[in-house]
Amino acid sequence: MSQRILVIEDEPGIRLALKDELEFESFDVELAADGPTGLASILRSPPALIILDLMLPGQNGFQVCQEVRARGIRAPIIVLTARTQEADKVRGLGLGADDYVTKPFSLAELVARIHAVLRRTAKDDEDRDLLEAPPIKLDLRRHCASKGDIELHLTATEFRILTLLLKRRGEVITRDDFLAHVWGEHVSVTHRTVDTHVAALRKKIEDDLDHPTYILSVRNVGYRFNENIAGS
Ligand code: CA
Repeated sequence: MSQRILVIEDEPGIRLALKDELEFESFDVELAADGPTGLASILRSPPALIILDLMLPGQNGFQVCQEVRARGIRAPIIVLTARTQEADKVRGLGLGADDYVTKPFSLAELVARIHAVLRRTAKDDEDRDLLEAPPIKLDLRRHCASKGDIELHLTATEFRILTLLLKRRGEVITRDDFLAHVWGEHVSVTHRTVDTHVAALRKKIEDDLDHPTYILSVRNVGYRFNENIAGS
């Protein structure tokens, strides 16, 4: 499936040139001539990438950029800016844009930047979906866990417990934290249930159950994932 790129640009000539070029590059292209239209499209369905002109009628590129990030949308943004707007470039990047191109720009350069930014964000997403405390590894996207070369067969609850422990590795996680993050709204679950599931998880990952080295107990409080595992 081709990736969708949203172009927010008020100059029709540039807009159409970009559409032609990006379609030639096999992207799906959506055009918006002003900020509010572009923003509405992003909020409806975030594209793979946004090309954003800074000087726009209605709502300028800065405001669009700010709004997109404020809403927690991570879609990469490449800002188009006039050559004289050096200060704007900096501000554009400060607002969470991923790259910028100064006008007049060559289409080839812009396309190269687009590919580079898309590659970078794909890599970041992958990294974000991987939690590692060697030899323990969790792949959040594929929902699988391993210890060295051995796949761990975890229940959904054990997986969520281990995810929380690894995300906050080295920190003490209270039983209430586990209840809130792992079980959410289920009120019937007690501290004892947390202990039961942690015990089951330990059976699957610890080398010696009498002396756990991965999931450490913190007396009267909760658990902590060891930040100093040998081999990590
Ligand atoms: Ca403009």
